[in-house]
Amino acid sequence: LLSVHGLHKSFDDNPILKGVSLDVEKGDLVSIIGPSGCGKSTFLRCMNFLEVPDAGKISIAGVEIDCQGLEDAPPRDLKEKAHKLRQHVGMVFQQFNLFPHKTILENTMLAPMVVRGVPREDAEKNGLRLLEKVGLGALADRYPAQMSGGQQQRAGIARALAMNPQVMLYDEPTSALDPELVDEVLKVMKDLDNEGMTQIVVTHEMRFARDASDYIVFMEKGHIVEISDEDEIFQNPKDERTRQFLKRFI
Ligand code: ATP
Ligand code: MG
Repeated sequence: LLSVHGLHKSFDDNPILKGVSLDVEKGDLVSIIGPSGCGKSTFLRCMNFLEVPDAGKISIAGVEIDCQGLEDAPPRDLKEKAHKLRQHVGMVFQQFNLFPHKTILENTMLAPMVVRGVPREDAEKNGLRLLEKVGLGALADRYPAQMSGGQQQRAGIARALAMNPQVMLYDEPTSALDPELVDEVLKVMKDLDNEGMTQIVVTHEMRFARDASDYIVFMEKGHIVEISDEDEIFQNPKDERTRQFLKRFI
């Protein structure tokens, strides 16, 4: 469903991604772990064209993009490519990024109405359905500031789902949450996994990575160093760098 091949990205001549490749099948839940600054967020952002890669190929749900030379492409071309990719990708950030002056129901309705021209009634019906799914049906008319972090993040997930994505990308979705609110967000992701959603999660939640993922990707210094079955990577990491990193969590 998703395939990335040889992805490169530099910032100011600083190579951050140095040829990253990853294949994800439909229904997989993949956790990406690794030290701070190794390029995890950059990798996710490239998959959504929030950053334009310098080179490499990205293919998501049948949309294929060769990133070679795209830096110099006309902005209109870039915009079109980004738009095509994002049709299939939902993204959830550490900071929930909800629109503060809109209720969470309105938050879920906005993109379908504005980007897809979905009629208000349909957007509302679908928004309510998704808020129910993440356990917020009763709070649909609340504003983000009137909710806990865990509730806001679940609303953020509902909003991303409203565009009917094939793949969900999460960048540390629980890092801004108080510990007691983490599980309710992880549970939503596990439920989505059971429904067959394809998900890629950058996370520091090793317990979640271990319990919920189909496999774990370990990144270091702009490379994927190890891709492993979740039990394998914790019990018997093949790479010394993975071993060192995980020592802190075991
Ligand atoms: P963390 O676990 O702390 O979130 P990360 O693995 O997500 O780290 P990235 O955010 O991808 O790391 O950053 C990788 C490197 O790229 C860092 O050194 C960062 O300073 C640099 N970087 C990221 N975005 C930019 C940018 N827009 N301009 C310049 N440098 C950047
Ligand atoms: Mg990051």
